[in-house]
Amino acid sequence: MAKIENERQVVRSNVDVVLCDIFREITQRKERGQVAAYIPELADVDIESFGLAVVDAGGKVAAVGEADTPFSIQSISKVFTLTLALGRFGDRIWERVGREPSGNSFNSIVQLEFDRGIPRNPFINAGALVVTDLILSGHEPREALGEILSFVRGITADSSIRIDETVVASEQRAGFRNAALANFMKSFGVLVHPVEHVLGVYFHHCAIAMSCRQLAKAGRFLAHLGRDPSTNLMVVQSERARRINSLMLTCGHYNGSGEFAYRVGLPGKSGVGGGILAIVPNVASIAVWSPGLDVNGNSQLGRVALEMLTTRMGWSIFGNFQ
Ligand code: GLU
Repeated sequence: MAKIENERQVVRSNVDVVLCDIFREITQRKERGQVAAYIPELADVDIESFGLAVVDAGGKVAAVGEADTPFSIQSISKVFTLTLALGRFGDRIWERVGREPSGNSFNSIVQLEFDRGIPRNPFINAGALVVTDLILSGHEPREALGEILSFVRGITADSSIRIDETVVASEQRAGFRNAALANFMKSFGVLVHPVEHVLGVYFHHCAIAMSCRQLAKAGRFLAHLGRDPSTNLMVVQSERARRINSLMLTCGHYNGSGEFAYRVGLPGKSGVGGGILAIVPNVASIAVWSPGLDVNGNSQLGRVALEMLTTRMGWSIFGNFQ
């Protein structure tokens, strides 16, 4: 028994060492996936990039690699827009978007037709467009975007966070699939605002650029039952934080969500910029970045790094050493 306790003690104290080991192992990997070529600006990102940051409950940050390099957070922004929409509209949002894993690709149109314009969950593109439509209520697009950016800057206490306009322009030029999804939902009356307003705000919030360190800080309220431990302010009700985490677990990696839960064992949200935000409830918030994606559009080595981290630290919501 004493031996097991000692091993747990070792596991707990070694996050810096574990991160260094992971960095060394990841940089040697040859199979890195593919960068997201369907957004031309993202296709130019160096596939060798890698960063990882962990913020513990006390606010201590452990980081390796390019943890201070901003990257396009893309769909990770959907966690923040969902949080805002839940804060404003509460459970009424579930009248327009579901809470079920999709089992389909992030930009699937087939499923939307089958479901009569109601997206399966807020993390596939169609669902995030509905959430953006909700945030636009009573606002001009510029104000809605300002609200999203202020929220992200507020929870990180970092006013330097910016939207990368070149990524916005890139996605605006090439976002035919999202335009199709939005128009399709509009035809079912699921979107209230003009399609171009919804798409404009959506492309902008996807183009927020953050580093792993900033992103890990932004996830802290989800790791601590809705409260930001650095300010002690409630960002979202505890029950909502728990539920956002549950959606991240079941839907945060599109049709790779089951594999992510199996291998990493944490709520997580990926973006096609190669980032993943993962939450260890009551313990830590983690952000990883590696731009190469797997077939499901999730960071290939980001997931591998998180699997190494959670295995070596004993972090899993399905059984935790801590
Ligand atoms: N902006 C991207 C899109 O709409 C987000 C996709 C993602 O990050 O998974 O296609």
